[in-house]
Amino acid sequence: MSGDPSSGSRRAAAQQLSSLRAAGVTRIASRSRKNVAARPDSKSVPATPPVNATTCSRSASLFNAPQSTMPRGEREERLQILSSRVARCTRCTELSTTRTQTVFGVGNPEARIMFVGEAPGADEDRQGEPFVGAAGQLLNRILEACQLKRAEIYICNILRCRPPSNRTPAPEEAANCREYLDGQIEIVDPEYIVCLGSVAAKNLLGGMDSIGKLRGRFFNYGRAKVLCTYHPAYLLRNPAAKKDVWGDMKFLMHDLGVEL
Ligand code: URA
Repeated sequence: MSGDPSSGSRRAAAQQLSSLRAAGVTRIASRSRKNVAARPDSKSVPATPPVNATTCSRSASLFNAPQSTMPRGEREERLQILSSRVARCTRCTELSTTRTQTVFGVGNPEARIMFVGEAPGADEDRQGEPFVGAAGQLLNRILEACQLKRAEIYICNILRCRPPSNRTPAPEEAANCREYLDGQIEIVDPEYIVCLGSVAAKNLLGGMDSIGKLRGRFFNYGRAKVLCTYHPAYLLRNPAAKKDVWGDMKFLMHDLGVEL
């Protein structure tokens, strides 16, 4: 333990900066107290959007057609506020005492497609960014094959802290983190959410169906169409399932008006 009383706050500030960078924030606007009060973080988080509610169909350019009219700067600011709350979160005692840092999310705050994984692993915990390890490298290759860039989409997880030994997230942990996930969904307001693996699918949509049963059709979550596919880590263990994921991605891109 350092004897310097300011070292703790310096560490927290450094983590917050790294979370913000990972959240896609490239600049921090200086805000007056009035502006801070005008957009309180607690109000930015919605009630859980209903599954199977309305969906909107849209056409427009692929990566820059946000559903809502919220300006990009406001999205960045609200993500920044939420990310700062996440960095201080201690709702899950075990996770908050074993994590190196929180892993908020990364990518385009106006993304049309949001990918949701399970939880950070060791690499993500170290780097503060989702999907940067081996599964992330495979996700990058899947995105490339779909002509998508990481910076164009948004990526986050059911949990924002690494479960020790990469165990499956406990239901209470997912429930504790849900407000943050729903906050990110509300702010980014994607047209499509891709659930990577059964933990993401079961937590987002509810129900107990396997990915095998959930694949091949869209569900609704709030305003977003939801597609479920296999987790890249599963593909690393079961390469034969890559063709199924390719089929799922073609299905998604076709709905976006892109034939692969
Ligand atoms: N697996 C996940 O589900 N999420 C990550 O961020 C990394 C690996």
